[in-house]
Amino acid sequence: MNRQNRVVNSPANVTVLGSCGAWPEPDRACSGFLLEYDGFRVVLDLGYGTLPRLLAALGSTTADGLDAVVVTHAHPDHMIDVHGLFRARWFGRQGAPRIPLFAPRPVLDRVMSLEEDDGSAVARVFDWHPLPATAYDVGPFSLHSAELPHSVLNAGVRLSAPGLTMAYTGDTGPDPAIAELGRDADLFIVEATDRAQQPGTAPAPEGRAMLMTAGQAGAAASEAGARRLLLTHFWPGNDRSLSRADAEATYDGEVLIATEGLRIDLP
Ligand SMILES: [Zn+2]
Repeated sequence: MNRQNRVVNSPANVTVLGSCGAWPEPDRACSGFLLEYDGFRVVLDLGYGTLPRLLAALGSTTADGLDAVVVTHAHPDHMIDVHGLFRARWFGRQGAPRIPLFAPRPVLDRVMSLEEDDGSAVARVFDWHPLPATAYDVGPFSLHSAELPHSVLNAGVRLSAPGLTMAYTGDTGPDPAIAELGRDADLFIVEATDRAQQPGTAPAPEGRAMLMTAGQAGAAASEAGARRLLLTHFWPGNDRSLSRADAEATYDGEVLIATEGLRIDLP
């Protein structure tokens, strides 16, 4: 059976594990997406509260069936549950083959810092590869990455497989590199923190913006020529319908709103 047939028999999809920025709302979680293509499963970010949802999606308390992990940056709302995943594998599947982990070095360091050893246990669970980097083969995908502006090193990622391209910004301020990352993507997952929507929220630090509004997310998706836009990383308490309206003002394609459990068939 050639790959073309297998693709037809196994459609690709993305499941939203979490959609909140900074910290999770009740019954929600922070950033996380499970991408499946041709039976290969890669999780993108694992923020607060995403691990139970990942395990439920996999149908496994030990994350059996997970083939790779990609993490954009070392802020806990994007990576703290990597440590929970480590525990699931360390206690539940000791000696199993390592799971490839593509992430900036500080992500690995943070996970290791939660252990009492020198990091060797984490290194026996995850096969770490640095981001950003030129390119990797990850199962059926080519993984490309680009540094995008944030307060810590953040790698926007782009995963391409036959007939499918998906891109994800992680956290970023506006930057021309975002449009390149999402060029002609079938689905572009873009953060739309819309932090200013909450009047009681401390203002963003002065200087270059490190997060975006939904209007900026829509403009970036327009410039990229992306086919569909999935807004995510909403500040807790935000009215997401306002974010959708703002993105629709700057982007003509379909605007989707990330919500926990949403499954999007691709391409
Ligand atoms: Zn974040």
